[in-house]
Amino acid sequence: MRPSILYPLFSPIDTLTGVGQRYMQLVGNLCGTKVIDLLWHLPSGYIDRRCGIPLIQAHNGQIWTGKVRVIEHVVPKTKKQPYRIIVEDESEQLTLIFFKTYGDSLTKQYPVGAERIISGKIEIFNNALQMPHPEYTVDASFPEQMPQIETVYPLTAGVTNKMLNKLMLQAQRNVPQIAEWVDEKMLRSKGWTDFHSALWQVHHPQNIIDLEPNSPARQRLAYDELLANQLSLAIVRGRLKKQKGRTLCGDGHLRQKLLSYLPFSLTDAQKRVIAEIESDMAANYKMSRLLQGDVGSGKTIVALITMLNAVECGTQAAIMAPTEILAQQHADSMNDLCSIIGVRTALLTGNVKGKARKQILESLKNGEIDILIGTHALFTDDVAFKDLAYVIIDEQHRFGVRQRLNLSQKGKDCDVLVMTATPIPRTLVLTQYGDMEYSKIDELPAGRKPTTTTVMPLSKIHAVVDALQRKIASGTQAYWVCPLVEESEKIDLSAATERYENLQKHFGSQVGLVHGKMKESEKNAVMEDFKNGKIKLLVSTTVIEVGVNIPAATIMIVEHAERFGLAQLHQLRGRIKRGQEASICILMYGFPLSEISRQRLNTMKQTEDGFLIAEEDLKLRGGGEILGRKQSGFNNFRLANLSAHGDLLLTATKDAAFILNQDPNLSSPRGQSLRTLLYLFERDEMIRTYKAG
Ligand code: ADP
Ligand code: MG
Repeated sequence: MRPSILYPLFSPIDTLTGVGQRYMQLVGNLCGTKVIDLLWHLPSGYIDRRCGIPLIQAHNGQIWTGKVRVIEHVVPKTKKQPYRIIVEDESEQLTLIFFKTYGDSLTKQYPVGAERIISGKIEIFNNALQMPHPEYTVDASFPEQMPQIETVYPLTAGVTNKMLNKLMLQAQRNVPQIAEWVDEKMLRSKGWTDFHSALWQVHHPQNIIDLEPNSPARQRLAYDELLANQLSLAIVRGRLKKQKGRTLCGDGHLRQKLLSYLPFSLTDAQKRVIAEIESDMAANYKMSRLLQGDVGSGKTIVALITMLNAVECGTQAAIMAPTEILAQQHADSMNDLCSIIGVRTALLTGNVKGKARKQILESLKNGEIDILIGTHALFTDDVAFKDLAYVIIDEQHRFGVRQRLNLSQKGKDCDVLVMTATPIPRTLVLTQYGDMEYSKIDELPAGRKPTTTTVMPLSKIHAVVDALQRKIASGTQAYWVCPLVEESEKIDLSAATERYENLQKHFGSQVGLVHGKMKESEKNAVMEDFKNGKIKLLVSTTVIEVGVNIPAATIMIVEHAERFGLAQLHQLRGRIKRGQEASICILMYGFPLSEISRQRLNTMKQTEDGFLIAEEDLKLRGGGEILGRKQSGFNNFRLANLSAHGDLLLTATKDAAFILNQDPNLSSPRGQSLRTLLYLFERDEMIRTYKAG
């Protein structure tokens, strides 16, 4: 239960004065509808409204604030003319200009002879100073009514900065004094204040430095958020470790046999991660491990070998891919090897229906299938195993964090391995997968040829088509990747279908097309034709992104490469590294190309190291892009920013481990405050999800 001290922060903002339903919706779109959401909405700037220079020194465009005396009102003769009020300070005259504002209100606010402090934007027109609609006007006897420094927030239509500032002040009055959760020593060494003051400070910047992510107040709040994140993940991880699992430790006879049939020997990295996985499987807790390995690093064989460990123990294993194409591909490559060593596999997808499906379900229940390969159809209710002990989820980022939690709960005491080919920067691994153990294949099999990457404008498309014609005539296959079809109405994208028709003129029936809107069976048929060489040039949207393995395809052309994320381009490019031949990737961009886009495409040209590319992508685009925009459970931090606060994250990780080691139940006084912290950043939900399962 949320501690009552936090109630005021979690009440809806329409409990604040001046907020009705409509306004709540507007502010809701901007930052959220709870008081705390307002507080997490950080300023982007400030306006200095301290009185400073005399009018005579004011320059065009400047926000000027100062004391003036009202000289005279110039009432307009026609409705089109503005209303003018002449004011002056000791140095110069200024004309206040009001459009569509007349009469009483102005006479009341600016009586002739009265002294006012005004603030607004100066314009110089015909050598005279004017100020259209002052932003603030206060009686000179109450100077404290003028905000000295006005905080500027990111806004949305219908929400003014003035109004938002008023709400923020109210919200800040709702912030309770909470007992400190940050370690005393750390506070001192970092020069941080308490939470309450830090929150006040970030909302009242006094200079440019206060707005930087590394100002002490912003750092402190970022740390709070990161600590809440790391602590909650560490708690879940600790709970998992306590969940009893099975001890899977086979005698190795199947694995040995398999290795003797492999045409290659495992890389050191593969051997290392297999050992890590197997030691988890052998332990009596439930495994929950993330296996990361760049495209082509050989995860499939790692998956198979560890599944054989389960099979050697007389139990069953399952591997789940995000699409039917990928499930089919796993089945193809695993079936061959498994049948040689006498291990029984089956493929179960949504396409397997009727009698065939019944047969598989039957065999599964009887234990006549050792390894089941499939899509999420694996986890529909009618699928029952005789004794499932090990589940592998391939290409995890397509599933989302929440789904991962649900899945591992379905398999009860199963060991779970999640495999992903997306190189994920360390900071993201910590924040998104901190509940799991972690293995990384950081080495590619020897003998891989590098890919030559070229960056060129779309205007050179004819030259590319010519070159492609020669390559294809000599037997090479190629991918042609287009940006998304769906958006084509809105933006002028060269949609995949259009490109396909266009390329047909050059390549005739050698061109095929796959896109996300096609039925799975149609997609499969096209992929099959591409695999067996009937199709030489495959036009596609990013459906080919993950995992597809076609060794003869060594050329890739990406249209509007500037619209893709780097991690995505890296995934795509990985498709053409499957064969023995050197591969070519052509990244074509449209105009105008921003400086950042140019930089990004250059990164692609310069390196093939997925981890380096991912770090770069994180810097340029932020974490959500790397893990996939639609990633359901992706934590967007409100205050922390992983490129600016990466080192704080590492500190938070260590601190969380230390805390749980000292006080596993968070029962000490600091532990109690830390509980409040978890609620403050709404990390309680994740912990509860796990408890329920
Ligand atoms: P990914 O990690 O992208 O899933 P795969 O498991 O599909 O990579 O492996 C890519 C290719 O490399 C496959 O053809 C596989 O047989 C081959 N391979 C895997 N491990 C090795 C190795 N140690 N030496 C040589 N080739 C390997
Ligand atoms: Mg794979």
